[in-house]
Amino acid sequence: MTQINKLSDIVDNGLCIGCGLCQSITGKDSIEITMSPKGRLEPKELKKITPDTFGKILNVCPGVIVEGLPKEQVDTKSKHNLVWGYYLSLFYSWSTDKKIRFESSTGGLLNGLSLYLLESEKVKFILHTVTDPEKPMRSVSKLSYNKEELLNSNSCSRYGPASPLDRFHEALNLNEPFAFVGKPCDISAIRQLSKSDERVNKLCKYLLTLVCGGSTEFTKSEDFIESFKVKEEELSIFRYRGFGNPGKMYIKTKDGREHDREYNSFWGEESTWRVHFRCKICPDAIGESSDIAALDTWRGGSPKGEDEGFNAAIIRTKKGSDLFHEAVNAGYIKMGDQLEIKDIDDFQPHQVNKKKAVYARHEGMRKQNILTVKTNGLRIKELYDLNSKEFNLKEEEGIGIRVKKI
Ligand SMILES: Cc1cc2nc3c(=O)[nH]c(=O)nc-3n(C[C@H](O)[C@H](O)[C@H](O)COP(=O)(O)OP(=O)(O)OC[C@H]3O[C@@H](n4cnc5c(N)ncnc54)[C@H](O)[C@@H]3O)c2cc1C
Ligand code: SF4
Ligand code: SF4
Repeated sequence: MTQINKLSDIVDNGLCIGCGLCQSITGKDSIEITMSPKGRLEPKELKKITPDTFGKILNVCPGVIVEGLPKEQVDTKSKHNLVWGYYLSLFYSWSTDKKIRFESSTGGLLNGLSLYLLESEKVKFILHTVTDPEKPMRSVSKLSYNKEELLNSNSCSRYGPASPLDRFHEALNLNEPFAFVGKPCDISAIRQLSKSDERVNKLCKYLLTLVCGGSTEFTKSEDFIESFKVKEEELSIFRYRGFGNPGKMYIKTKDGREHDREYNSFWGEESTWRVHFRCKICPDAIGESSDIAALDTWRGGSPKGEDEGFNAAIIRTKKGSDLFHEAVNAGYIKMGDQLEIKDIDDFQPHQVNKKKAVYARHEGMRKQNILTVKTNGLRIKELYDLNSKEFNLKEEEGIGIRVKKI
């Protein structure tokens, strides 16, 4: 298959990450998003989508197209790295609020910046992703207007399936300034939408993201609770991390039973992560088109123990730089030592490897006549050309095997 003709072509070819933007475009009466048996959030047409609306989805869907930072966002002072893209500066950084720093994923940089945006009245609300209050193993998008709303529902790394953009048009329709925090694929979809909907750049003032190793399928979480003989309906708390850095994977039942597992023991080898297929071919998992991307800072890529929480910030745009320094000056964010690209490489070896491998993976799919993501401005072909032939061949062939498991 070489062409996408309908929504199910995106889903059936493993290109969908379940972001929810298609549903946000059509409304819930036309597209529903449900958990598939494989443990992915997948959209399904309830009513026939018109060709015009389908065209709009094709222009924004991160399973169809992903592009780099828009040219107009590249500052004259920007530096550029073949793996990491455009950036203005790199810093260690974390929230100065001890509770936020402790409870958030790493050091609470993203929640700290979100809080600053709300309390400085630069935005009216934050659109972000939190625990589903009814079903804590699942995640939902949320519009938060104040500190309490922002932080009362585990706005922390939610590794399992989520649809952070399912309410994006609802947010736009409010006609109030807001910021979005989400994964790189979500940010990319918003940048695409901004080309056809002028409200996006007018209202969605800041795009903050996390460097992303992939979204795990729901079955990984199900297996975790089953290993303690706990059923989903018994859960009152389900956390992937936080309450320390990295903090433990933790569950609590309504009748008070508690179980946890060390971060490294849950994640183990990359091959056991059980991420969506779309993540394995992700051309931008590093938030190239965001204003600021936050990441973990463990040397070698995995934690050696618990610490107080030290994010790194990749500040990509002038807007991101202004926000970061204003939040530092206002006392919300701590700016630590300046970092270099070689530090970021060291913190994220899996990202460096994926960025180098991804074009070969796309090639492997194209050679088998399988649909893949269109890309632009992400340098993946340049990186491919620098790889050894053996590396590229291994990646091309490897994806062929994975494709069979879509
Ligand atoms: C799917 C996933 C993969 C990750 N992979 C990496 C990685 O490869 N390398 C790395 O350094 N860190 C990774 N992380 C962890 C996280 O990016 C870092 O810890 C980062 O430094 C942010 O830390 P923080 O303390 O600033 O975040 P916090 O202050 O805790 O804020 C987290 C923010 O992320 C949002 N969010 C959480 N889950 C989702 C989701 N599923 N979809 C959209 N938005 C969400 C929340 O709404 C919140 O705004 C991943 C997180 C997720 C959710
Ligand atoms: S990736 Fe997002 S926009 Fe594309 S089909 Fe999936 S849910 Fe819809
Ligand atoms: S790896 Fe890419 S596609 Fe997967 S969740 Fe992260 S940004 Fe999205």
